Amino acid sequence: MASYLAAFEKHIGLIPRWGVQAIDVRRVGNSTTLELRTDAGDVQTRNVVCATGAHARPHMPAWVADLRVPGTVLHSSQYQYPRQIPAGDVLIVGGGNAGVLLARELLASHRVTLATRTPPRRRPAAAYPTMSGVRRRPFGIGQVPEPLFTDSYAELREAGVDIAPAVVGATGADVMLSDGRQLSPTSVVFATGYRPGDDWLPDDVRAHPGKRGRTSMPGLFTAGLPRYGYPDGDTIQGVLRDAARVARHIIQRP
Ligand SMILES: Cc1cc2nc3c(=O)[nH]c(=O)nc-3n(C[C@H](O)[C@H](O)[C@H](O)COP(=O)(O)OP(=O)(O)OC[C@H]3O[C@@H](n4cnc5c(N)ncnc54)[C@H](O)[C@@H]3O)c2cc1C
Repeated sequence: MASYLAAFEKHIGLIPRWGVQAIDVRRVGNSTTLELRTDAGDVQTRNVVCATGAHARPHMPAWVADLRVPGTVLHSSQYQYPRQIPAGDVLIVGGGNAGVLLARELLASHRVTLATRTPPRRRPAAAYPTMSGVRRRPFGIGQVPEPLFTDSYAELREAGVDIAPAVVGATGADVMLSDGRQLSPTSVVFATGYRPGDDWLPDDVRAHPGKRGRTSMPGLFTAGLPRYGYPDGDTIQGVLRDAARVARHIIQRP
């Protein structure tokens, strides 16, 4: 993948600036020029495309601030191998693909509870056309549950995982579940997903996301962010379509 991207950069004559973080973008006075602020200095330009990823920032629920367990608290993005988690009971919060994979892996060495809001989040049928192993019509309509690519909850339960309902809060070492149960796990792993990487865009742009890659700020476009375009914007196919559309918007700008 890396060599493909390097070859592609060369082919189109792109000069990437690696390790530079976008911090803000604003209009320069009433002109059509935009100023992009980065941690390596400011750039003035007519067009900016925010393609900083739909799942860019690890997300943890607010109640993590009230949690004090004797073992470890980490987000799935920090997890590498089972020995990171001290021996004892582990509570995995979040029953999507990351949570299910973690439950299966940690089961060999820990006693595992997987807390999940059921049923799984629903997505437009066209968003993930073929990947789950389940045949889906490529242009299906309606909503389907987010596919689980590995074990089902029933398979995990059979293997020994305690499938629990959603967590509603924590006090010290105790975690409260929505069915009134209370757990005192040694460690907690948050498989609670990610938030979009649009946090560097101005508040009014984020509040009024615009349509189809256009934002409320002329010259500022987005690609790969479903909130600003199509629900399948966070798939490879969706990003490709967004990118082509944004390129057309930019070419056609007066
Ligand atoms: C495990 C996994 C499996 C997947 N499988 C599939 C699949 O089978 N089929 C499918 O269609 N899709 C799949 N996807 C989704 C697909 O990978 C994404 O939709 C696609 O890679 C998103 O591309 P992107 O360029 O929009 O964002 P990203 O690839 O997330 O790129 C965003 C970039 O922006 C950078 N960035 C973030 N903030 C800033 C900032 N402030 N300043 C500068 N740079 C910043 C990030 O470092 C990153 O390099 C999968 C995703 C994951 C995580």
